[in-house]
Amino acid sequence: MEDRYGHRISYLRVSITDRCNERCTYCMPRELQEWLPREGILSFEETLRLVRIAARLGVRKVRVTGGEPLTRRDVVPFIAELAALPGIEDVGLSTNGTLLTREVSPGVPIAQALRRAGVRTVNVSLDTLDREDYRATTGRDLLPEALAGLQSLVAAGFELIKINCVLMRGRNEEQLVPLVEYAAEHNLLLRFIELMPVSTSEVLSEENFLPILTARRLLESRYGALMPEPQFRTNGPASYYQIPGRDQRIGFIGAMTNLHFCESCNKLRLTCDGKLRPCLGSYLEFDIMKEMRAGASDAELERFFLNVVDRKPEQHDFRDSYVPGRKMVAIGG
Ligand code: SAM
Ligand code: SF4
Repeated sequence: MEDRYGHRISYLRVSITDRCNERCTYCMPRELQEWLPREGILSFEETLRLVRIAARLGVRKVRVTGGEPLTRRDVVPFIAELAALPGIEDVGLSTNGTLLTREVSPGVPIAQALRRAGVRTVNVSLDTLDREDYRATTGRDLLPEALAGLQSLVAAGFELIKINCVLMRGRNEEQLVPLVEYAAEHNLLLRFIELMPVSTSEVLSEENFLPILTARRLLESRYGALMPEPQFRTNGPASYYQIPGRDQRIGFIGAMTNLHFCESCNKLRLTCDGKLRPCLGSYLEFDIMKEMRAGASDAELERFFLNVVDRKPEQHDFRDSYVPGRKMVAIGG
C-alpha cells in the first residue's frame, strides 16, 4: 500500500481497548473517562480478520496498544494468533508495564507468556523514576509495579525492550539523567518523546512543552556531545544518538519540532472501535467496523484499506492549532 506522497504502509498499530488502569494527564482527560460499550469494540476475531487483510496488502509489523492492552482478557492467545498470521513478521506491544507480572498460569507471568506468544519488542511507558511524580502524572501510585514489570520483561528474555518517556517541562527534566542511568543498567532502549496535542488542550501549553532539543542539551551538559547515529532505525520516526564513551544509545521522537517527522511514515492505525486512521495527528478516520458488520467481503475490505491509505495526509496537523477530537487512550498511541 502506498499513498500519493510515497509513504509505504507496512506497519499497523492496533488498539484493542480504550480502558486503562492509569490516568496519564496527557492521554486521558478527566472529563472523558467513560468507556465505550463492549459491543462498540472490535472482537478479537474481527480484529484478526482485518489484520489478515492488511497483511495481504503489505503490512508486516503490528503493534498492539490501547488504552492499556493488558487490561483486556485473553490478550495472550489473541497475540499468539496475530503472530501466526501469514505475512506478519513482527508483533510488538505498548504497555504501561504495571500488569506484566500478573500470572496467567501458576508460575508464568504475563511477560513470559507474551514472549512465548511471539511478541518481539515491548515498549513500556515510563516518564519518571520518582514515585510521587509518577503518581501525579499517571494518577496512580504504581511505579513499583511498572518497575517490577520491566524486570519481568528482562527475565523473560525479550530481544528489545524500549522505554518511552514523554517530555514535560516543569515535570520530568530532572528525571532524564536517572532514566538514562536506569536504561543503561538494565540494557533498555530509552526514547524521549515530545508531548503531542492529543488530549485536552490545557495540559498542552508552551509552559509544559519540552522540545527534544532542550532535552538533548540537558543530557549533553551531563554526558558531553551525543553522537548521532543516522544509520540506526527501529521502524519508527526516532533519531538515535550514542552516549560518548558508552555502548548506549538513546532516541528522540520530535513529533512537534522535527519538520521531517512525517516523511518516512509507514503507519496506519486501527482504533478499538473499528476506525482506520491514516494519521494520528489528523481528524480523518474511516469506520471499517461498520462496513464489516454490514457484511462486506474481504475484497471490499481490501478496497476500503486502499482508499484510507489514499487519504493519508502528507503530514500531521499538530502544528496548525489542532484541537484534539478524540482522546489518545481511544485512538491508541
Ligand atoms: N497504555 C500503554 C502505554 O502507556 O504505553 C499503551 C497506550 S499509550 C496511549 C501509548 C503511548 O502513547 C505511550 O508511550 C504514551 O506515553 C504515549 N502518549 C499518550 N499521550 C501522549 C501525548 N499527548 N503525547 C505524546 N505521547 C503520548
Ligand atoms: Fe493509560 Fe497508556 Fe494513556 Fe497512560 S498513556 S492513560 S497508561 S493508555
